[in-house]
Amino acid sequence: MTEQFKPVDPLVSPRFSGIKTFMRLPHVTTVHNVDFAIIGIPSDAGASFRTGQRAGAAAIRHVSALLRHHNPILGISPFDYINGIDYGDLPVIPGYIEETNDKIEESLHPILDAGVIPISLGGDHGITLPELRAVSQKYGPVALLHFDSHSDTEDQYFGKPHNHGTPFRRAVEENLILPKKSIQLGLRGSIYSPDHLLTPKQLGFEILTAEEMHEMTISQIIDTIRTQIGETRVFLTFDIDFVDPAYAPGTGTPEVGGFTSRDTLKIIRGLKDLQFIGFDLVEVLPAYDPTQITALLAANIIYEFISIIAAKKRTPA
Ligand code: MN
Ligand code: MN
Repeated sequence: MTEQFKPVDPLVSPRFSGIKTFMRLPHVTTVHNVDFAIIGIPSDAGASFRTGQRAGAAAIRHVSALLRHHNPILGISPFDYINGIDYGDLPVIPGYIEETNDKIEESLHPILDAGVIPISLGGDHGITLPELRAVSQKYGPVALLHFDSHSDTEDQYFGKPHNHGTPFRRAVEENLILPKKSIQLGLRGSIYSPDHLLTPKQLGFEILTAEEMHEMTISQIIDTIRTQIGETRVFLTFDIDFVDPAYAPGTGTPEVGGFTSRDTLKIIRGLKDLQFIGFDLVEVLPAYDPTQITALLAANIIYEFISIIAAKKRTPA
């Protein structure tokens, strides 16, 4: 296995040094011999409340330097089994969401065509729609595993179809995902009107609200996800506001009554049998994250994701 696409050794070059790519992976745009690519998508044109998610990817990269190479809970050194790169940021056009969406989609094609798993760092949740457009061109409609305190299935905001509250309704309408094989987890908080609770179910999604999840064990939550998705190819989209703002304050539309960082990591670790073809982590907003705990959690969630795809490669199903 090539030694080319590994993070810098933290016992040779101290972790506080160097230019901050994700985990200090090489910043290259080659996709040959690569298992996953970290991709920054610095767009917040779709944010409905606070803005500044455009700075999320840089903040996650910066603090990710802290991550060491062995994951003791899963018992794996992921880079013994997979190669990864930091592809850099995709081009965006500030303030122009539809043009930005086109650029995101077209930039992802060569990465997906090479069979590389894209791991995208937002950006607000609006970026997931063009990601799914690109993914579905490669694989056809896929399952969606969606962690979020919001369903993001609004029909429109202020009369407009694209923002961070609408991507998953658009994705169903455009036949990019299979709602019957998909699940949304963590929904909570006040909503605009009672019928908003029904929307995701009407679209065909399985949902677990935060209230329901708080009555379940972590294993029951993991089993529910695995039963729903099964062997279907799946895209994991993680909105950091799934986590309680006590642990992840740096986000645009925080909702209290959420999940701990520990429970979140445990759920991700339990998903290593799924057929992941893409991942994103969105809505980190560094201006509201003065101690970097939100970005640190985001980096660790991505690290767990990298660890489970490495674990699957170690022991193919
Ligand atoms: Mn969201
Ligand atoms: Mn959300």
